[in-house]
Amino acid sequence: MNPKTIALVAHDKMKKDMVEWVHWNKELLAPHKLVCTGTTGRLIQDTLIRERENLPRKDFEVVRLKSGPLGGDQQLGAMICEGKIDLLIFFWDPMQQQPHDVDVKALLRIAVLYNIPTASNRSTADFLISSPLFEGAYKPVLKDYKEYILRSVDEP
Ligand code: PGA
Repeated sequence: MNPKTIALVAHDKMKKDMVEWVHWNKELLAPHKLVCTGTTGRLIQDTLIRERENLPRKDFEVVRLKSGPLGGDQQLGAMICEGKIDLLIFFWDPMQQQPHDVDVKALLRIAVLYNIPTASNRSTADFLISSPLFEGAYKPVLKDYKEYILRSVDEP
């Protein structure tokens, strides 16, 4: 068993989906550390507390960052850069523009850059959580950006 840190985010119209998904997968999720944007985290915490009796582990860990539009997506992006997130489950709303669209895009970009397994909808989240790799010690391969870092740039 390799405990993972799983980031969970859902836009407002997708929060019901997220809560249902967490409910269905509570036993699989409980041993892992969950890091959420503020409001998503509150709903997930409430769900897990309500269902605590049915969980093998009662002391599940839910970390709540700032609400997405208030910087929570950026906090998650920073955690990904620092190697602190293993999986991202992000139910973003395909039907509504968000005030923090640029942050959403940034989070998705950084997740791709760092090769973080990312689910944007429930079926992909189901595939991720039921993968044999989910329970293993999977470490994403990272591209070597040394050449980019050491590139020559015009100096002032
Ligand atoms: P919230 O943020 O969980 O605080 O609602 C989600 C988001 O919009 O990124």
